[in-house]
Amino acid sequence: MSIAPQDWQAAVAAIGGAEQAVISCHLHPDGDALGSALALHRGLAKAGRRALVSFSEPFEVAPHYRFLPGVQRLTPPEEVPRAADLFVCFDTGSLDRLGSLVDAFEGAARTVVVDHHASNTRFGDVNLVDPAAPASAVLCRELLRRLDLPLDREIATDLYTALVTDTGRFQYQSTRPETHVLAAELLAAGVNQYDVAKAVFETNDIRYLRMLSDVLGRIAQVPAASLVWTVVTLRDLQAHGIGMEATEGLIDLVRTDGASDVAAVLKEQPEGGFKVSLRSKGATNVGEIASRLGGGGHALAAGFTSEQGLEATVDAIVEAVGTRRAVAADGPPLQPASNATARTR
Ligand code: 5GP
Ligand code: MN
Repeated sequence: MSIAPQDWQAAVAAIGGAEQAVISCHLHPDGDALGSALALHRGLAKAGRRALVSFSEPFEVAPHYRFLPGVQRLTPPEEVPRAADLFVCFDTGSLDRLGSLVDAFEGAARTVVVDHHASNTRFGDVNLVDPAAPASAVLCRELLRRLDLPLDREIATDLYTALVTDTGRFQYQSTRPETHVLAAELLAAGVNQYDVAKAVFETNDIRYLRMLSDVLGRIAQVPAASLVWTVVTLRDLQAHGIGMEATEGLIDLVRTDGASDVAAVLKEQPEGGFKVSLRSKGATNVGEIASRLGGGGHALAAGFTSEQGLEATVDAIVEAVGTRRAVAADGPPLQPASNATARTR
């Protein structure tokens, strides 16, 4: 399903005619969400247009994305007007994913949703949604072109970062020849690709690396569900003195278990329950599983929030994958979060 020409025209008319645009993305923004939002903001600002860029509380940029051109121009969410002329959001599959900016979206005169999640609920007045796009940044690039907003090195760096992160460095199934053509265009606009790679993929806090030893030490397989999982507890964070936002890349290590199709990382939340990241190598639609469990995402990368305990959350995943845990009862029983040492080899 690609985007209809009249939807592009409606988006260009809405953005082109706006007095003041609020630009945003989903809460806990990743590279694609933040990179796309910052790119459109800079494009409009350079053209002398009134625009601001923001995202939900907790208003904290993950360490890996603090180098992105334009982060210093982010507006705190509480300062975002609640009755703007226009609200544009990137990479946001449903309204609730705007977090503390939901009311700003609802109060805006006109809204444009730019996204590539298959689960997108089309909650805007105008919806530019293409699940075949490997990143929202691909749609952002096309939007800039149609708005006659030229690339510069900063915009290209934001878009390149979005593209390289959402495609898993051009490895995932969504990567097409056109994806590389876009990457080439962005590099030609002046992106220093090693600076991006170094900041995003080659830099970790030593305290995070030490914490990995604990978290990977308790990794567990559920063979009957072709699942590998681990948990990051609040105690882990406290013991090593780091924040949960440093653990974004953890799922990419866990998913490399050669014996499992599905990977899950459970992140204990201060208010109780877990934020769960799910990935599949292709045999399981984790987007459907996450949707069934109250979240959403893509077929091969998705997430949800569980208000249950550790064991019940893993059970729910296993059950949703289609296999009862009883089938896989050859490992030791799962332990509670405070001493999660379950391990199956
Ligand atoms: P991550 O595991 O990196 O947080 O998220 C993977 C993908 O799933 C992203 O595309 C993200 O937008 C989506 N996702 C993660 N958590 C949720 C959630 O709680 N609800 C919805 N609707 N999507 C989520
Ligand atoms: Mn994305």
